[in-house]
Amino acid sequence: MIDLRPRRVRTRLTLWYTGVLAAILALAGAAVSMLFLYELRDQLDIHAIEQLEAVETKFQLLPDGTVQLPEEQHHHPYPATEEIRFIEVLSGGGAILYRNEELQGRALDCPPSLGEGVVSYGPRSVQLAGGVRVRVVSQRYPVGGEEVLIRMGLSEEPMWRRFRHSILMMLLGFPVALGLAAWGGSFLAGRALAPISALARKAEEINAEQLHDRLPLENPQDEIGRLASAFNATLARLECSFQQLRRFTADAAHELRTPLTAIRSVGEVGLSRPGNAESYRETIESMLEEVNRLGFLVEGLLAMTRADSGQFRLKPQPVCLLGLAREAADFLSVLVEEQGQSLAIEGASVKVPVDPMIVRQIVINLLDNAIKYSPTGSPIRIRVFPSQAGFAALEVEDAGPGIPAEHRPHIFERFYRVEAGRERGRGGAGLGLAIAAWGAKVHGGNLTLESGSGGCVFRLSLPVQPQAQT
Ligand code: ADP
Repeated sequence: MIDLRPRRVRTRLTLWYTGVLAAILALAGAAVSMLFLYELRDQLDIHAIEQLEAVETKFQLLPDGTVQLPEEQHHHPYPATEEIRFIEVLSGGGAILYRNEELQGRALDCPPSLGEGVVSYGPRSVQLAGGVRVRVVSQRYPVGGEEVLIRMGLSEEPMWRRFRHSILMMLLGFPVALGLAAWGGSFLAGRALAPISALARKAEEINAEQLHDRLPLENPQDEIGRLASAFNATLARLECSFQQLRRFTADAAHELRTPLTAIRSVGEVGLSRPGNAESYRETIESMLEEVNRLGFLVEGLLAMTRADSGQFRLKPQPVCLLGLAREAADFLSVLVEEQGQSLAIEGASVKVPVDPMIVRQIVINLLDNAIKYSPTGSPIRIRVFPSQAGFAALEVEDAGPGIPAEHRPHIFERFYRVEAGRERGRGGAGLGLAIAAWGAKVHGGNLTLESGSGGCVFRLSLPVQPQAQT
């Protein structure tokens, strides 16, 4: 089916505006015409009554019983009105006493009723034989001692001529008024829509390379200003996402390259010099270490991607936080031993409805950091306790170097490391805390750095009541 609707909003607005105006004009025109017609008819009635009152005193009774008007009263006093005057006089019994020349013997109206001309003039429209339409008024008046009925009729033709003339003028003016209105409407619509066209042109110029560009805001309070603000806010979010994506890709590529380079150089060195079984073993071990790091990194990246996709589904179940802390400690016990550190786990056995896989990974990440970043022989402590209303907390405290104040706001960001060149031990791509913070958030909890000077205290807070998945 062909869509006949105009494509431009400006044209549509103009058409609507003109159509509505045409309907209003037509209605108003019809109402005004009717009023005008009533007004003209009232005027004609007044003229007829005036004429009637002017002649009623002038009638003379003739000897034969009929009545007559003096010669000077035979004609309409105002010929310019072009009204034709018809006069008829009837006796009380209904006999014709007088008809003026214009009537040419025709009756002005039907035989009179008893009340005609008694109370009011009773203006009415009648049609004479021959088709002339006349407005008639009547009055009873004594002539020569006898009461007669005088009828005065004025032709309606001049009234209808004026009416037709005014309608014609209106019909001629109608298209002119509509044309002017359409032009004005189109001009106004053009002016009103001009900022939108400008915004559209500007928006078309913005592409992925120019996401920092913003639409101009002339008046942020009006509708167009609000549209532009909303668009700018979307652009800002897009720009932010693009930047994050770029940084993430660049960081991920960089992090993947480092262990790969290490594996290649260790392999090349191992191959370039002849060695015994022991030296080859060392080479392979060191290569496997890097492969492990690569594995950690890829797992971290996968976790981040899953988190970003938003399609991750939690499998919550009641879990004892203290038990989870012990599991994590068991998992990392070899490292603790290697570092000669002591690990204490204490607190209440609080149960929380969480996905054990994720929360276990959070605790492992926190404990792993505590082990890596604190010196040999230092103590590490895990505490589990009910914190503020409705939350349970798990704190991991170490006696390491802490985190300098300027870095604290960033440590939960992806790939953020306090010192890029810091000796990294295992893993160390700057993803551990970001993953842990995400894990806390999806459970409706949070991960905070409670203290960062003279050792670190990380606190994981989780709600004790099941939450709608966030
Ligand atoms: P990484 O894999 O590098 O450990 P994380 O996201 O786990 O990445 O940690 C981010 C950074 O925060 C680390 O590089 C480290 O500088 C700092 N950090 C984390 N935990 C500790 C801690 N317990 N003591 C000192 N610094 C820490």
